[in-house]
Amino acid sequence: MDSVAAAQVRDAARTGTPRIGVLALQGDVREHFAAIEHCGATPVNVRRAAELDAVDALILPGGESTAISKLLEVFELLEPLRARLRDGMPAFGSCAGMILLASEVLDTRPDAKHLYGIDMTVRRNAFGRQVDSFETDLDFAGLDDAPVRAVFIRAPLVERVGPGVEVLATIPSGPFAGRIVAVRQGNVLATSFHPEVTGDLRVHELFVDLVRGR
Ligand code: GLN
Repeated sequence: MDSVAAAQVRDAARTGTPRIGVLALQGDVREHFAAIEHCGATPVNVRRAAELDAVDALILPGGESTAISKLLEVFELLEPLRARLRDGMPAFGSCAGMILLASEVLDTRPDAKHLYGIDMTVRRNAFGRQVDSFETDLDFAGLDDAPVRAVFIRAPLVERVGPGVEVLATIPSGPFAGRIVAVRQGNVLATSFHPEVTGDLRVHELFVDLVRGR
């Protein structure tokens, strides 16, 4: 971790209730907002660069990654967000948020932008029509007491990870067995699935702990 990132984590840890932004351009913003509140942190909707400046960390929700990409440009958030990620701001992306955090995206629109938050290649809508939405139980590294119920909705898959990226979960069985669906690089987490819709807050708790520097 560089010194800027370390200082941010220390600041958040000191206050005890970090301000966690939820990128509120499109998608399931409310579910993440509620999850963060339940975890004892302060959720903040982020639509403007000034709002981004004022948060300790950011959640990028599920939705439609190409629409969010377009809105990031319209709201002049794309470069400020890339800069905060470069400076080590903790972030968590679910589904479309995972796509946005990638360094390379397959099967997207040629004009779609992404954020280079995690050194990974992500394929959009990777499960195909037959199973484009499904649920399964996953083993998730660090959440060892019980499997995580994972809800996939036209979800992406991680096709490649760089050397600094830790794989947190893979698909346990079936045609996609072994494929990567949760990753972490430093302070940045991403899941192909939607922990915000199941009522199991452990992935959000993990993220809030990471923001608090625990
Ligand atoms: N298929 C969507 C996309 O490409 C992601 C779906 C989701 O976030 N549930 O952006």
